[in-house]
Amino acid sequence: MIAILRKNASEDAVTRIVSWIEGKGLTAHVSRGQNETIIGLVGDTTKIDPFLLESMDVVQRVQRVSEPFKKANRKFHPTDTVVNCGGAMVGGGNFQVIAGPCSVEGPNLIRIARRCKAAGATMLRGGAYKPRTSPYAYQGMGEHGLDLLLEAKAETGMPIVTEVMDVRDVELFVDRGIDVMQIGARNAQNFSLLKEVGRTTTPVLLKRGIAGTIDELLMAAEYIMSEGNDNVMLCERGIRTFETRTRNTFDLNAVPALHELTHLPVVADPSHATGYTRYVEPMALAATAAGADALEIEVHDDPANAWSDGAQALTPDQFDRAMERIHAVRSVVADMAREEA
Ligand code: PEP
Ligand code: MN
Repeated sequence: MIAILRKNASEDAVTRIVSWIEGKGLTAHVSRGQNETIIGLVGDTTKIDPFLLESMDVVQRVQRVSEPFKKANRKFHPTDTVVNCGGAMVGGGNFQVIAGPCSVEGPNLIRIARRCKAAGATMLRGGAYKPRTSPYAYQGMGEHGLDLLLEAKAETGMPIVTEVMDVRDVELFVDRGIDVMQIGARNAQNFSLLKEVGRTTTPVLLKRGIAGTIDELLMAAEYIMSEGNDNVMLCERGIRTFETRTRNTFDLNAVPALHELTHLPVVADPSHATGYTRYVEPMALAATAAGADALEIEVHDDPANAWSDGAQALTPDQFDRAMERIHAVRSVVADMAREEA
């Protein structure tokens, strides 16, 4: 971390800030130029609040040199992490498609799962615990929804991905053998929940917060990993911007940016990112071309009567077509990666 001081910084002020830094257990390297005085902070800067430092009268600007995320950082772990999701590998050149309804609603789950599998999906999604903006909207089936997901898994062989909303449910998800616990956008900074799933070994699909930055997503991953669970996948699902034509703004920049910054697999969710069925396929293709390691897509056999997110669901027929095209784009991306290697 570097602190650039104001031009009029007095000797006294510099001495005071140096002793403040040293008081935090760090070393301060002062370098005085003709116009600028710069202090380099060396040591464990995670204990320093850069905003507090920058708020000091003598300080003009503070710049971080190293990122605050360590375990997720590609600098310290150059090779791609591959996460084993109940037999489906994600990352490091392995590509998967997670598909299924927004909510688990009943026996239609098996029907939808069969169609998803036939189209080439390799993992099944479905929410049993639903984070809804309104407390009056459908809240999910709860534990019975997990039973239905496990039945669909037994029938199709597809590993399952489902959202855990509450610290108190983590043990249940682990005991039931859920393959992947999803942390939804609304819980992306629920630090107690992040730590709790971090104490398990179950793979975690961590979604980006509603208005979360890439760095906040990486710090959320760091929470999980710092508790010991390295099986983390990051998911770009769109962020809130001033744009209102689509449900969210799909930040596809995040796909290559995350690949550069972290070794963790990057998943893209064109369903929540766009909010409309007709935009899902084109953006699924774009995310595949951008290098996503997996896609998460909502599929429902009767979107008009879906219990949640019907507006963005693909019908099984639409999903068939999308999968053909996704595989076509994916094979081009995989060929290019092989040529580069
Ligand atoms: C979901 O996957 O159905 C969901 C609620 O996603 P998000 O947390 O990204 O809104
Ligand atoms: Mn949904």
